[in-house]
Amino acid sequence: MQAEIIAIGSELLTPFRQDTNSLYLTEHLNQLGVDVIFKTIVGDSRERLTNVASTALARADVIIFIGGLGPTEDDLTREAVADALGLPLKRDPELVAALERRFAERGYKLTPNNLQQADVIAGATVLPNPNGSAVGLWVGGKYEGREKIILLLPGPPAELKAMFEQQCLERLRSKLPRKAIATRVLKITGLGESQCDARVAPIYKTFIDVDTTILAGAGEIQLHMKSQKATTAEAQQRVDQLVELIEEELGDLVFSDNGDSLEQIVGYYLQMRGITLAAAESCTGGLLAERLTSLSGSSRYFVGGAVVYSNHLKTDFADVPAHMLEKHGAVSKEVAAALAEGIRYRCEATLGIGITGVAGPTGGSPEKPVGLVYHALASEQGTEVIERKFPGDRKRVRWFATQQALDMVRRKLM
Ligand code: AMP
Ligand code: MG
Repeated sequence: MQAEIIAIGSELLTPFRQDTNSLYLTEHLNQLGVDVIFKTIVGDSRERLTNVASTALARADVIIFIGGLGPTEDDLTREAVADALGLPLKRDPELVAALERRFAERGYKLTPNNLQQADVIAGATVLPNPNGSAVGLWVGGKYEGREKIILLLPGPPAELKAMFEQQCLERLRSKLPRKAIATRVLKITGLGESQCDARVAPIYKTFIDVDTTILAGAGEIQLHMKSQKATTAEAQQRVDQLVELIEEELGDLVFSDNGDSLEQIVGYYLQMRGITLAAAESCTGGLLAERLTSLSGSSRYFVGGAVVYSNHLKTDFADVPAHMLEKHGAVSKEVAAALAEGIRYRCEATLGIGITGVAGPTGGSPEKPVGLVYHALASEQGTEVIERKFPGDRKRVRWFATQQALDMVRRKLM
């Protein structure tokens, strides 16, 4: 089964409003085993909308139109879809009466343009809208010899979600061939996207019945795997087999095989050992602490730390010797190590992290360019420092740095 989603509204073609509804629908459709093969955003033009609708009808089994069902001039979805299907629109007297009631209850005058919301494509089922005035439509039937399901849903996200979940999901499920789906996500750090793909593609390519997608972000790669089979056990077995082979290939570069984040994994390890962590952050300005403390229960293992940008606070809060700052500069492996050791001592933690770097875009120099970051991890056994040169803007560099720091803790405790 293949679906196509068409989001309608000129505002969705501007930078000011994003089409979020199609993401929501895609997630649900995928869970039903329906692949979304095209998504289109089209402005409020009857001609362009009719064209898009005709194209979609020729290539997808399930076509979902979002928006353009309201009472205004630019709400043209009903007309355009009826045109594309070659079906007439009929004004539904029950819907007219319901609109009249709705307006009377609110003390508003029902203007004629509102009545277009009572127009129904011939043969369609009306989907009531408990949260708004625009009803949805479900059109089923054969189009050029193939069975199609066509849905027209309102644009406001809350209305669309309620209508889809309460009136479409089960009905859609009952029309689909019974198929079980299993998914797994592997998260990887310490490897670039192309390096990762070079190592795993030869493996997943032999699993033609498992869909594999690679998603790259700053300091993290995700491999999403999905299998569809007659039974859940079969589908699960296939993704599990693939996961096992990829984990064998990548070893400890894989930090999670069940969707957990790096901070969650670090949290598990710290809790399992019953030990604590503290951090002194320059460069990342508390982002590491924010990530660690976004998890409930993190106070059991993250004791706290300091954001130390000025030299004197590096000295006052993390005991970094002033002469060291003068000799090596704030962005140096020596200072990173001193930050980690100092904050570990001051916070009485088992492990201490120190981060110092040049997040950019200003402040770089030939010796210390933008993106240069030192990460240190201090423990009873000594202090380890990693130097990295990260690409990207300030936000990316800072995120990369927290990934690296968390990964040092993970590797230490693994
Ligand atoms: P409409 O049904 O076209 O009158 O849209 C009603 C409201 O929903 C407007 O504020 C739209 O901007 C919003 N909207 C329409 N389509 C989408 C979409 N695909 N994603 C998010 N918001 C939308
Ligand atoms: Mg609109």
